Amino acid sequence: MQDKKNFYINGQWVSPIEPRSFAVINPATEEPCAEISLGGKKDVDAAVISAKKAFETWGFTTKEERLNLFEKLYEIYKKNWDEMAKTISLEMGAPIDFSTELQTKTGASHIKSFKNILKNFKFEKTLDEEKNQTILYEPKGVCALITPWNWPINQVNLKVIPALAAGCTVVLKPSEIAPLSSMLLAEMMHEAGFPKGVFNLVNGDGAITGDALTSHPDIDMISFTGSTRAGALISQNAAKDFKRISLELGGKGANIVFKDAGPDAISWSVQRCFRNSGQSCNAPTRMLVEKSIYNETIEKVREFANKTKVDSPNKNGNHIGPVISETQFNKIQTLIQKGIDEGAKLVAGGVGKPEGLEKGYYVKPTVFTDVNNQMEIARTEIFGPVLSIIPFDNEDEAVKIANDTPYGLTNYIQTQDKNKVKRVARKLRSGMVDVNGVGIDGASPFGGYKHSGIGREAGLEGLIEFLEVKSVGGFN
Ligand code: NAD
Repeated sequence: MQDKKNFYINGQWVSPIEPRSFAVINPATEEPCAEISLGGKKDVDAAVISAKKAFETWGFTTKEERLNLFEKLYEIYKKNWDEMAKTISLEMGAPIDFSTELQTKTGASHIKSFKNILKNFKFEKTLDEEKNQTILYEPKGVCALITPWNWPINQVNLKVIPALAAGCTVVLKPSEIAPLSSMLLAEMMHEAGFPKGVFNLVNGDGAITGDALTSHPDIDMISFTGSTRAGALISQNAAKDFKRISLELGGKGANIVFKDAGPDAISWSVQRCFRNSGQSCNAPTRMLVEKSIYNETIEKVREFANKTKVDSPNKNGNHIGPVISETQFNKIQTLIQKGIDEGAKLVAGGVGKPEGLEKGYYVKPTVFTDVNNQMEIARTEIFGPVLSIIPFDNEDEAVKIANDTPYGLTNYIQTQDKNKVKRVARKLRSGMVDVNGVGIDGASPFGGYKHSGIGREAGLEGLIEFLEVKSVGGFN
């Protein structure tokens, strides 16, 4: 078992001031794989003080100085690619191929993308030469970054890199359930030579560590990814002293499959719902199918679902691994049972573990048909490999069902009619729309409407989130 009890504060690994131990569980074996500490108020305070001190100089470094460090970090990250992939696989159960080719890759692509954005960004803009009007874009200050476990390094790099690029300093609190990839990143930041205090990491839970961080008076901004429940609590803390917040929360994406959908639409729909064991905020979990192709679609979905393999994360191949924890496993089982009790028709999977996988938090890829959008399985974010199929009569009804949810993260459209794409995409109340399997690129802004969050990550918008705007008259 790995000993990972220290925090990274002010450029070094330090023992916790108020130690509370916590075991990181390997979801494939249900056994502890590392021991970390959960930070207390004093640990959080030490990290915030360090970040505040570092901001005095980091906030005034040049673009070139920051770019230099990101260049080094990018090279170090690439050198540690396999180690990162293994770490993510261990802590959250992603199959090693998926972890290498997707989870780890997204972390690298965010470093690369923000390097380019920073290179081209002008922190000073002349608005009107004659009237001598200038805008200065300045770093927001000390940022608390709080992340979940499902795409661990993706979420972390979507925050750490743009925050530092903007000139902010940070205290990162990764998910206590999957903190090891973030600790590996901290080692990389150290090796790259980021100045002391610019990047700090304190492990911990939400109730004590997260609360201490988000209510700390010296935090200027909170960037949070996680559940809508925690997002609401964090917003309350932020409101007390007007901290800026950026929230990336849950989703219950609709995938509208029209009768003229492309030939790969059905296999894609199933694969994207089950990918990462269904643990993606933007998973297309509500599949809305036009009635004239409903029966044939169900047969195809059943076939693809039954072909979806579930297996150990250590094996290579195109399968899905376990879900993250016992709590998540139990929640998913309860919701599958709820679907049965509510009268939805189970056509694949169901409660219980897949055959031969009694140890580990493995879930059967599950499909319900004849789902009504008011059923709990259509409203709650299940965060497991569970697909709900809902029939619709026409375009207007499809849009109505898609928008009838508290969430608004990503919706999906499958049709070959370009005019229909434009009409429907504009009517969907979500931060992102993917058409015919074309996902939004890593440089496009990522975020949601309604209960799916506030603000955007990635792309130029992802950098701007961490900046203040200062208007100066007579600057030149
Ligand atoms: P979670 O909200 O339980 O935890 C996320 C993080 O917040 C963890 O680091 C946790 O320790 C911390 N936290 C929990 N309560 C807190 C509090 N009161 N104050 C401060 N910090 C607190 O979520 P999770 O179970 O780790 O992640 C799954 C959720 O994340 C899902 O709802 C999913 O949709 C969402 N998610 C959203 C996006 C997005 O970009 N929209 C991306 C990935 C995951």
